[in-house]
Amino acid sequence: MSHTKLIILGTGNAMVTKCFNTCFAIENEDKYMLVDAGGGNGILVQMEKAKIPFEKLHEMFVTHGHTDHIIGVVWVIRKIATMMRQEKYEGDFTIYCHDLSAEIIKSIAQMTLTKKFSSLIGDRIHVVEVKDGEQIVLAGMKMKVFDILSTKDKQFGFTLDLPNGQKFTCLGDEPYKEHCESYAKNADWLLCEAFCLYEHRDIFKPYEKHHSTALDTGKLAEELKVKNLLMYHTEDKNLDIRKEAYTKEARENFTGNIYVPDDLEEICIY
Ligand SMILES: [Zn+2]
Repeated sequence: MSHTKLIILGTGNAMVTKCFNTCFAIENEDKYMLVDAGGGNGILVQMEKAKIPFEKLHEMFVTHGHTDHIIGVVWVIRKIATMMRQEKYEGDFTIYCHDLSAEIIKSIAQMTLTKKFSSLIGDRIHVVEVKDGEQIVLAGMKMKVFDILSTKDKQFGFTLDLPNGQKFTCLGDEPYKEHCESYAKNADWLLCEAFCLYEHRDIFKPYEKHHSTALDTGKLAEELKVKNLLMYHTEDKNLDIRKEAYTKEARENFTGNIYVPDDLEEICIY
């Protein structure tokens, strides 16, 4: 029996201290792919807690170059480079991202890793630039990447074809734009940021920060007719009530399934 599992490694925004930055892995028949890596060495902690073996991770995708998504990539490179040198990792490791993120990853890695690790970049560790609309394969699944047209910095989302034919779409960490409609409409799974509750908009100021609320996300998911909505990239001052309160707000408009996962939660997506 085949299965595909979403493993949430972090659920918070950039400045959280009570959970990890938003990033996740997908396991497909014993193969893993990683999306973003959080803001530092905590990615190694989360990977260990989630029991994801690095030797089974051969592809990752990076949405954009902000600290809370890209700094952890250097730690993933260091970990895999170490394993390669110890002959504990077979094959190559490939990081897919847009041109600007590729530049950042290569620069930081060259500047902060010793030569014995950084020399593996371009040898067995590949940083591969992808363009808007391009199709790649991660953990045996087809992924189409798209520019979310961020007003801040260039960012890519993606749509993954799950083995059962379902459509799994990640919109990155900024509000939805119409340009992404063909990728998000009728998605079986939609991963979407919700910075805070609408009820708390005066405290956390989501709109000033180009983010949305659980209420907005629920409306969007209903409009787009998605089946399963997953919210992440939130504030961390209400973690104890987050699942219940965010679900309740999104539920005001959305009739499908709602997920507000905690760090390290696993969701069976097929
Ligand atoms: Zn972010």
